[in-house]
Amino acid sequence: MAPHRRTPSGRRPCVAALILGLVALLTGQLLGPTGASAAPAAVPGALSLVASRDAVVVDTPVTLRGRAPAAGLAVSLDLHTATGWQPVGSTTTATDGSFQLAAPTWFYGRHVLRASVTASGVTPAAYSPEVTVTVRPPYRPRGGPSSWRLLEPMPVRWDPCTPIPYQVNLRGAPRGALRTLAEALRRVRQATGLTFTYAGRTRAVPWAAAGRSPAETPDYGFAIAWSTPRTVPDIAGRTLALAGSSIRTIAHGDGWTSAYYTGGLVIDRTQPTLPGFRKGISLGYVLMHEIGHLLGLDHVEDPAALMAASVSARSVPQYGAGDLAGLAQIGLAAGCL
Ligand SMILES: [Zn+2]
Repeated sequence: MAPHRRTPSGRRPCVAALILGLVALLTGQLLGPTGASAAPAAVPGALSLVASRDAVVVDTPVTLRGRAPAAGLAVSLDLHTATGWQPVGSTTTATDGSFQLAAPTWFYGRHVLRASVTASGVTPAAYSPEVTVTVRPPYRPRGGPSSWRLLEPMPVRWDPCTPIPYQVNLRGAPRGALRTLAEALRRVRQATGLTFTYAGRTRAVPWAAAGRSPAETPDYGFAIAWSTPRTVPDIAGRTLALAGSSIRTIAHGDGWTSAYYTGGLVIDRTQPTLPGFRKGISLGYVLMHEIGHLLGLDHVEDPAALMAASVSARSVPQYGAGDLAGLAQIGLAAGCL
């Protein structure tokens, strides 16, 4: 295990990714495909669907209104992903057949949506025309949209349709660390469509040297800790933090694919960070960068990208255009695993 990429000289320390477990585990870990919902064999156009707005800033409510051929029908709101239609909401039609759904404006992207009903004893399956709702960040992303790179030659990612639990070791963490982490994960969720759930405290320190501390990461999810180079030799020198995830092979579609399932993030607590999301070497910035590694992003050369290898007094804790393009590749738009 060696830090993936060192900070260029002449800069303040930052961050280095650590790749773990590149060997896929084929025994006992094979999971059946869950997949996206199959498109109903259907009557096209039997449902109507209209969006109240077609382009909004993230978290702005957008109402989708439609009408179905009957009352009391279960209506699903489906999002188009690279692997098929994924349900993202549901409702029941009113006595006049009308229905109303909330568009998924909690993450960025050009979301193609439709409503669908499955066949019942009285009505055939049906779906609406497609409706597009574009969700954009509340700021203008800096840098170029091509400034992103993946840690693996093929896209390896977490299953975006399973919430990712995270455990936190707060020993030695700065004040407000848990709140800053929650905000960092909220920003990652906006950029990816991935969801994260707090799974409580842990005593583990990822990559702790033998005998220094328990180093286990969760069976599924990731662990975060603040530690010292004495406990975690890989954060010695100019490295401020490390993060990475392990890979396993799962059944997917008609074949197999690689997916992340466990990971760790450790920050050198002997190197102070600014609190929250201030400009400069802030804890929020470091967390957003390291979580990018946890999800599969590598460093890039573009200094406007948050995944640049170095952090400085000028660093802004916002994902750049390239970061967002990369995160979209490994988010919900890529489809369920
Ligand atoms: Zn890094």
